[in-house]
Amino acid sequence: MAVGRDDVEILKPRTDKREYRRIVLRNSLQVLLISDPDTDKCAASMNVSVGSFSDPAGLEGLAHFLEHMLFYASEKYPLEDSYSKYITEHGGSTNAFTSSEHTNYYFDVTTDSFEEALDRFAQFFIKPLMSADATMREIKAVDSENQKNLLSDAWRMNQLRKHLSLEGHPYHKFSTGNWETLAVRPKAKGLDTRDELIKFYDANYSANLMHLVVYSKESLDKIQSLVEDKFQEIRNTDRSYLHFPGQPCASEHLQILVRAVPIKQGHKLRIIWPITPSIRHYKEAPCRYLGHLIGHEGEGSLFYVLKTLGWATGLSAGEGDWTSEYSFFDVVIEVTDAGHEHMQDIVGLLFRYINLLQKSGACKWIFDELSAISETTFHYQDKFPAIDYVVNIASNMQIYPPKDWLVGSSLPSSFCPETIEKILNELSPNKVRIFWESKKFEGHTDMVEPWYGTSYSVEKINDSVIQEWILSAPDENLHLPAPNIFIPTDLSLKEAQEKAKFPVLLRKSSYSTLWYKPDTMFTSPKAFVKIYFNCPHSSSSPEAEVLTDIFTRLLMDYLNEYAYYAQVAGLYYGLHHTDNGFQVTLVGYNHKLRILLETVVQKIAEFKVKPDRFSVIKELVTKEYQNFKFQQPYQQAMYYCSLMLQDQTWPWIEELEVLPHLEAEDLAKFAPMMLSRAFLECYIAGNIESNEAGSMIQHIEDVFFKGSNPICQPLFPSQHLTNRVVKLDKGKSYVYSNYGLNPNDENSCLVHYIQVHQDDFQMNVKLQLFGLIAKQPAFHQLRSVEQLGYITVLMQRNDSGIRGLQFIIQSSVKGPKHIDTRVESFLEMFESKLYEMTSEQFKSIWPPKDEIIFVTQSNVNALIDMKLEKHKNLREESGFYWREISDGTLKFDRREAEVAALRQLTQEELIAFFNEYVKIGAPRKKTLSIRVYGNQHASEYTSDNSESVEPTVVHIDDIFSFRRSQPLYGSFKGGFGQMKL
Ligand SMILES: [Zn+2]
Repeated sequence: MAVGRDDVEILKPRTDKREYRRIVLRNSLQVLLISDPDTDKCAASMNVSVGSFSDPAGLEGLAHFLEHMLFYASEKYPLEDSYSKYITEHGGSTNAFTSSEHTNYYFDVTTDSFEEALDRFAQFFIKPLMSADATMREIKAVDSENQKNLLSDAWRMNQLRKHLSLEGHPYHKFSTGNWETLAVRPKAKGLDTRDELIKFYDANYSANLMHLVVYSKESLDKIQSLVEDKFQEIRNTDRSYLHFPGQPCASEHLQILVRAVPIKQGHKLRIIWPITPSIRHYKEAPCRYLGHLIGHEGEGSLFYVLKTLGWATGLSAGEGDWTSEYSFFDVVIEVTDAGHEHMQDIVGLLFRYINLLQKSGACKWIFDELSAISETTFHYQDKFPAIDYVVNIASNMQIYPPKDWLVGSSLPSSFCPETIEKILNELSPNKVRIFWESKKFEGHTDMVEPWYGTSYSVEKINDSVIQEWILSAPDENLHLPAPNIFIPTDLSLKEAQEKAKFPVLLRKSSYSTLWYKPDTMFTSPKAFVKIYFNCPHSSSSPEAEVLTDIFTRLLMDYLNEYAYYAQVAGLYYGLHHTDNGFQVTLVGYNHKLRILLETVVQKIAEFKVKPDRFSVIKELVTKEYQNFKFQQPYQQAMYYCSLMLQDQTWPWIEELEVLPHLEAEDLAKFAPMMLSRAFLECYIAGNIESNEAGSMIQHIEDVFFKGSNPICQPLFPSQHLTNRVVKLDKGKSYVYSNYGLNPNDENSCLVHYIQVHQDDFQMNVKLQLFGLIAKQPAFHQLRSVEQLGYITVLMQRNDSGIRGLQFIIQSSVKGPKHIDTRVESFLEMFESKLYEMTSEQFKSIWPPKDEIIFVTQSNVNALIDMKLEKHKNLREESGFYWREISDGTLKFDRREAEVAALRQLTQEELIAFFNEYVKIGAPRKKTLSIRVYGNQHASEYTSDNSESVEPTVVHIDDIFSFRRSQPLYGSFKGGFGQMKL
């Protein structure tokens, strides 16, 4: 029973029809109930106000490890992993994270299964099991998670900043944990990790330190009684909130210049100041105001100036790590090779811009603009998945008073120049910390950070040094931004004449097709526009592909100082190269969208190469290609798989090879040739009338195809390109092995791909149902029981309509060939369980409480519910329909048709599907194993690949000769000619 139910007004968006209620249970648990009759999914999030700052000394990572353990089992539901299994099989997902002062657990699930899911979830906080056996196994998962982080520059540099702070402050600590901190060291001290885990849980997990959000389809009263029923058993020890007072940085940690060696190519400057936490002034939003100006990219901004000088390719600014006690303001600058030689000038210019802000004082008109943009953003916010929504709110609940639980810091409303200027004055030379990352420092550093092994050195700098940098920096015209013309003022909704449920082909010519769908779902003043330029010349060679990539990046580079204003005002655009050309995407408020679209189109039409910008972009692209080898092994394996399956794609290594030889003149010659033949595929959706959509495309056709000397000619019938996919042979297993690209990476990876069929409703639903029931058992067996590695997934794969399944497992403990045999053993085990089910069980009601794998009617229903889940917002809906258009499948009613197919599906058909396509030795089974060998297993590479093999196993030595030798699937984009209006 709730002891408190105050009717405090919770501020919500004007367009939000959901109901909210705050209650407090008698164990002091604070809960926010959300009732949304329209939702297809229910969700919950529990935020516990304890995190890695509370880890006992010498047991680094204990809070994070506890987060892992709560998922395993509870006294009420002792079967290991049965919580995750229940959630997964009922169309949901679940996860958790541990931060410095919080641990957050969350899930979503289909509405019918919510009550049981919530009961299982509540047991995390009532009586978790934490068996000794599972505890020892799961330390390996935490260790594997850390192994994955060890080669990530983000993790490495984050820890280096912590390392250079006061040892006594919890900010200094290592938070993830590994085998050493959770197994070896405790054992050496005679500690039992499980006992410590239980002690930690008992001491910290108290109901008064928890905040729960529950999101459901039911009425508030019903949700309330459900919550009272499930959660009031959580123990309340009235533990007080832990505070960690004091600043993490003493004087020796300020005025430092740290040179650090990253793993990846590229130079980065991170300039940091300790500041007063802006949470203390969240209505006045000083950091939002300062981040907006220092991070601005318009003409006259710091970034604009650095970009013009050829010194920077990216800049962001704003509040970084913070708690209620301390905070940091971070300016992060991606620096070019030339910029690297001008570090002092860059820092000098940053301080000059800060001086400019000090002289200008806090400006009311800029604050008013920000406040107007924030108002519109809040009140016209898109609905997003319930699971993300509850996590956001649960994290807000301990920080803000109840009336601001939904708003948080997102609505700056009170202009206070003194507060802004106070924080601005904290961004001073005498408190600065400068972290400078570059591979150029390799061999020139004298210290090593202990947890990640990052090499670095520290130099003290003083005020006068920085004053010199400020004085000697080039004299550039830094100034405040102009008023933002893109702020939407017309938010009215258009009358949609057509009540179209699906996109319609509105317009078709020899130059373009236009698919159109007015908003009938979201009543939101936003629109989505996609223009796909199909240009056959863009993908004819590795050179052509790289030049097309540079072409789109240069266009974005030219547009940036103008379009940045649109982005600030909630209107986004992108230009990206694709397999057969490039795409323009615009999404956001429709009011000023056409102005931006026409500017983008004009820039494409008038494209000229600026040699200085060409060389900056070329440098950036080259580094990106070079950094490919530092991708995680699972990303490398997935890349090989795509390269093998997708015809007419070029490998990154060839693209890297041609890059040094490409010059500005090559692009100047290439761009007009590339554009000379084009066909535009367009999609316009949202708050736009059909005549306006038609006139936008007419305008684009006029720009590119009309006039005495048109930029583009329509394609010849023979030139329509399409993505075709390699067809593997039935009954064959293909194996491709390679060493990991980074010799320092211990992790190996296996991608085990099973190719099944080309898009077909009946087959799709069999594949999906199998994927749904096998996903969690695969995770349970391969990760929880065998502990092969933190990244262990079974998922579906769809290459331009060719469907299949893939196991992805990254491991530092076992080599890829061994993992391949474990995947096969799993499939054998799964087979016997699949046979054990009877048709009665297929139709029976969940849950059978033992380990047999049942396909029940509720699995089928869960899949139906997942398919019928409504799109949350225009962006998501547009993504779905655009995929049908770009793949050429055009099955806009796919979900309804697949639901109909599912309702017909019998258990015999599912078993027959398994026997034919998936089971070991199945007659039509086609597998492709991609094995990437990390340095731990490099010695196995030769022996694995020299063994004599059965005739059904094909070792692939060369990806391209293999690709050329295989037949291809037909494409759905058979012909534009067949399309009728
Ligand atoms: Zn974790």
